Amino acid sequence: MSTPTHGGRAKCLQRLVRLDLPVPRTVALSFDEVHRIAGGEMPDMPGLLSSFDPDALLCVRPSSEDPDWGGPSAILNIGMNDARYVALSDEIGHEAAAALYLRFVQAYAVHVARLDPDQFDEIEDIGQAGLSAALGAYEDEAEEPFPQDPAVQLREVLRSMARAWEGTTARLLRQAKGAPVDAGLGLVVQEMALGLGRGECGSGVLQLANSETGRPQLTGRYLSQSQGRDALRQRHKSLYLERDPRGPSLQDLAPEAFDKLIDFAGLMRRRLREEMQIEFTIRGGEVHILDGVRVERSARAGVRIAVRLAEDGIISQPEAVMRIEPRAISELLHRQVAPGASRVVIGRGIAASPGAATGKIVFSSAEAQASAARGEPCILVRRETSPEDIRGMHAAVAVLTERGGMTSHAAVIGRGLGLPCVVGAARMGFHLDRKTLIGERGRIFREGDTITIDGTSGEVLEGSVQMVEAALDDAFQTLMGWADKARDIGIRANADTPADAATARRFMAQGIGLCRTEHMFFEHDRITPMREMIFADTTEDRQAALAVLLPMQRADFTELFRIMEGLPVCIRLFDPPLHEFLPQDRAGLRDLAEALDLPISDVTRRVESLAEYNPMLGLRGVRLGITVPEIYDMQARAIFEATLDASREGAPVVPEIMLPLVSAKREVELLRTRIDAVAAEVRAERGRTFTYRLGVMAETPRACLRADEIAPHCQFLSFGTNDLTQMTYGLSRDDAGRFMSDYVQQGVFKEDPFHVLDIDGVGELVALGVQRARATNDAVTLSICGEHGGNPESIAFCREVGMTYVSCSPFRVPVARLAAAQLALRETGVERPPRL
Ligand code: PEP
Ligand code: MG
Repeated sequence: MSTPTHGGRAKCLQRLVRLDLPVPRTVALSFDEVHRIAGGEMPDMPGLLSSFDPDALLCVRPSSEDPDWGGPSAILNIGMNDARYVALSDEIGHEAAAALYLRFVQAYAVHVARLDPDQFDEIEDIGQAGLSAALGAYEDEAEEPFPQDPAVQLREVLRSMARAWEGTTARLLRQAKGAPVDAGLGLVVQEMALGLGRGECGSGVLQLANSETGRPQLTGRYLSQSQGRDALRQRHKSLYLERDPRGPSLQDLAPEAFDKLIDFAGLMRRRLREEMQIEFTIRGGEVHILDGVRVERSARAGVRIAVRLAEDGIISQPEAVMRIEPRAISELLHRQVAPGASRVVIGRGIAASPGAATGKIVFSSAEAQASAARGEPCILVRRETSPEDIRGMHAAVAVLTERGGMTSHAAVIGRGLGLPCVVGAARMGFHLDRKTLIGERGRIFREGDTITIDGTSGEVLEGSVQMVEAALDDAFQTLMGWADKARDIGIRANADTPADAATARRFMAQGIGLCRTEHMFFEHDRITPMREMIFADTTEDRQAALAVLLPMQRADFTELFRIMEGLPVCIRLFDPPLHEFLPQDRAGLRDLAEALDLPISDVTRRVESLAEYNPMLGLRGVRLGITVPEIYDMQARAIFEATLDASREGAPVVPEIMLPLVSAKREVELLRTRIDAVAAEVRAERGRTFTYRLGVMAETPRACLRADEIAPHCQFLSFGTNDLTQMTYGLSRDDAGRFMSDYVQQGVFKEDPFHVLDIDGVGELVALGVQRARATNDAVTLSICGEHGGNPESIAFCREVGMTYVSCSPFRVPVARLAAAQLALRETGVERPPRL
C-alpha cells in the first residue's frame, strides 16, 4: 500500500499496521485498479480472496485523497449467506447472526443491486423474521435469489462502489468541494473483526479530544453486544466509555481493553501527528482497530488541537500554523450561527461581512438609533447605505441591503465595524416606503419582526437562531504569536474611529494603514458646519466654518494617536464629492435653509449646482484639495496639532498623510508645498518640532503608470485597489453586485474582482506601479489599503511584488496575519500536511 495512489484511509491503515496495532487483515486497491473496475475490468478475485481467512466476513471502505470529498458508503459483512448464517448462529446465537445477515442484505440491496430502499428500510424486526422478509423482498425485486457466493458478492460490491465514484453527480459534488476532475478512489477490503461472540463484545469509536472545544477529553461511544438479545433489540445499546455512576462502562466491562484503547489512541496521536478517532471492536475482551480517522472539529477546536500538538512536541510550531485555514480564523472572531442550528432561509445575498446577529427589522438610520436607545437589537434594512447611514450602522447589530457588492459602502463599513452584513439581496423585496421586506418565497416581514443576518454565509434567516460565541482564547493567541514570528510582510488595519483603532490593537495590527477621515464629518454636531463650509462664498467664510471643525478633527486624531501608542497612523485627507454631505430630501433642505438663514429655493439651487453626472470621477479627493484647499489645510493643521498633543504624553508620533485619487505628479507637488507650509506654521506657533510622512494613494490607473514621476515627491505609495479595480474595469463598485454572481457563474470573471484582486489586469497595474516607483525612489514604502488587503490570495501577490505591508479591515487582521505567515513558511519548505 502506498499513497497518493491508494488514498488517505489506506495510508492511515498502513501506518496503523506498521505501529503493530491489532488491525484486521487488509488489502488496498489503488486508484488505477478501482478505475479499471469501474470500466468492467475486475481484479483477480480468487487471488484477492485468498488473502483472507476463507470463513471471514469482509468489508469494503472508500479511500479517497480527502475524506471531505465524499464517496460511496462502506459495505460491511460481505460473505454472509445462508450457510454462514447457520454456522454463525451456533457461535453467536440466531438473533445476532440474523441481524448481521439482515444488515448485509439491506446494504447490498440498496447500494449494490440498487433496489427500492423503501422495501428494505421499512423492515422493523431485526431478527429471523426480518431476515426472511428482506431475502423475500430481494428475490421479488431483483427477480433472482440473494447471491450466495462470497466472490460474487465482493465483485459486485467493488464494481458498484467504483461506478458510484465515477458517476456525474458524485464527480460534480466533489469538484464543488475542491476535488480535481481526475480525483481517484481507492478501496480498502478488510476482514471484519466482529464485536460478537463470547465474553465482552462490542464496537465503538473513541477520541481523546473534544470536537467542539479541542480540549483533552475522552469522548466516543461503545455499543456492547454482550447483553444478548436485549442489546440487539435496541440496536444500539450505548454505554459509557469511562467509569460512570449513571451506568455500565467499557472500563467496567473490559478494563484491560479500555486501557489498551487509551494507549493506542495516544500512540496514534503521537505517531500520526494528528488527533485521531479510533474505530474499534472488542471480541472476548480483545481489541481490534478497524480504522482511524482525523477527529472532526469546529474551527475553534482546530486551533486548540494544532496548538496542543505543538506544545506536546508532536508537531513543530510552524506546522501548527500551517494546519489552520486562514479563513476559518474569521469564524472565531465573531458570533456565528451554531453549526447544525435549524435555519429557515428567507433570502440570500453577498456575504459581505462575517458573523451573525439577530434583531428587529428597522428601515432607517433614525429608527436604528431609536431602537438602540431602547436597548433593542435591530437589523438595518436599506436599499443601499450611504455615509449618512453611519450612525444607523453603529446602532444596528447587522445590515441587509438590496444593492451593492463586496466594496460597497455597507460592506466596507460593516467589515470595519465587525458588523455582520449581507448586501445585494436583490431577490428579496425591499419596500421601504411601506416598511416591508419580502422574502424570496413571498413571506412578508414588517418593521419590528425578528430576523437573523448570517454575514458568513450570505443568508437571511427567519426569527432568531442558536449562536456560538467568538473565541479569542489562549490557544488562538498562542497560534497567532507563532504566526507573527514567521511572517515577513507587515499587517496594518483600516480604521476610521477610536473603536476601530481599539479593535486593530486587540488584533495586533502594526499600525493604521488607512484612516478615512470623511466619516468624521457626519457626526451630528459636525454636519452643519460642514455644510456651511460647502456653501461658503468666500475663503474667509469657508475658513470660519472650518475653524469650528478644526478642534473636533484635532481631538479625533489625538485619540487615534493615543490608542495606537506610537504605531504608525496613516490619515487620508478628505476624499468624497462634497454633495454627499448635502441633504437629499425636502426636510433636510428646510433644516439647512434654517441653519444658513437662506431661502429654501437658494439652498435647493446650490445643492443642484453641486450635483455631478459622474461624482466618483468628478470633483473629489486630491482635486478638492487643489480647488478648495482650505479643507486640506484644516485637516493638516488638525493632524499636526494632534501630533504635538499626543507626543507630549507618549511616544513621539510621526503622522502619515495620504492624498487620495492622485493622477498627476503636479497634484502632489502643489499639495506638498501647502502641507509643508501648514507644518511650518504649527511648528512656529507651538515652538516645537515634529516630522511627518507624505504619501500618495495609487488608485487611478494613471497613478500606477506614472509612479516613477510621483514617487520622488512622497515617502510612501499605498495602492487603493477598490477604486483602482473600479477604474481598470470601468465597473461601478456600488452597482456591480447586481450582476456579479451571473458573471462569476458564467465564468466571465473567475471571482468578484472587488473581493479577490484581479492579478492579470489590476495586478499588472500594481506591479508596474511598484516597479516604477522603486526605480526612482528606492526608499519609498509600498503597501495596499483596498479591501483586497485582507484576502489571502491577494496578500500572496502583494508579498511577491515586494510590498512592505497590507492594510485591511480590523476584523480581517488575524486572517491576514495567518495567511502571510503561511506564505513565508511555505517558502521555507513547511507544507500543509495532506489530510488524513
Ligand atoms: C480604495 O479605493 O481602494 C480605498 C481604499 O479607498 P476607498 O475605499 O475609501 O475609496
Ligand atoms: Mg478610493
